[in-house]
Amino acid sequence: MGPPGAGKGTQAGRLAERFDMDHLSSGDIFRAEQASGSELGNQLARYMAAGMLVPDDTVVRVMAKAVTESSAIGGLLLDGFPRTVFQAEALDQQLADAGRPLDAVVVIGLDDEAAVERISGRRVCSSTGRAYHTKFMPPRIEGIDDETGEKLIQRDDDTEEIVRARLQAYHDQTAPVIEYYYLRPDLKVIEIDGNQSLEEVNASLVEALQSLGAGRETEEVEDHGH
Ligand code: AMP
Repeated sequence: MGPPGAGKGTQAGRLAERFDMDHLSSGDIFRAEQASGSELGNQLARYMAAGMLVPDDTVVRVMAKAVTESSAIGGLLLDGFPRTVFQAEALDQQLADAGRPLDAVVVIGLDDEAAVERISGRRVCSSTGRAYHTKFMPPRIEGIDDETGEKLIQRDDDTEEIVRARLQAYHDQTAPVIEYYYLRPDLKVIEIDGNQSLEEVNASLVEALQSLGAGRETEEVEDHGH
């Protein structure tokens, strides 16, 4: 969890790879639905373009399907979901039914002005959505994704006006979810200062996840060149 610009997607992508977990980003799932041109995608797009949260019943329906279809051995890493207490309760219920309750919640904190600065420099791959930053995390070749060679674009909802609406939604609707998780004795809440560099945030997260025995770490295999 964390406000827009905290680095959720970037960190979740890295952790999922390292610990062999399935990275489920609600925003990515919604943007893929939008790109498909479906009626549902058009509905989602209207909320996203305004920086407003998509209604809970729609989110819960779409995400329940994604969670059910996930088969990663190392477990699930949810990114951007849940964002309301209603969603968190629905997720708890679904995970309890599946016998796979939440192990931990990661909260990456970032103040609003830093969020606006980060988001205004953000550029994403037009096909995969991988994020860069013009100043803090530039691609090797300007305007081009390092891996796919596709063009980098600015997300429609990454303008300052819309980012401020997204921050408002975060403070009003998502902050109570953090409270909700804090009150759960069975759950570890890991707080990370998102003002640190990407590498520092990543190192703290890797350490925290290792101490929880999360996933199935693949780093060593990669180190040996396989
Ligand atoms: P993100 O990619 O996480 O920044 O999400 C982009 C947009 O998708 C948000 O501004 C919302 O409009 C919508 N969205 C993503 N996840 C959720 C969620 N869990 N609940 C409601 N709306 C969401």
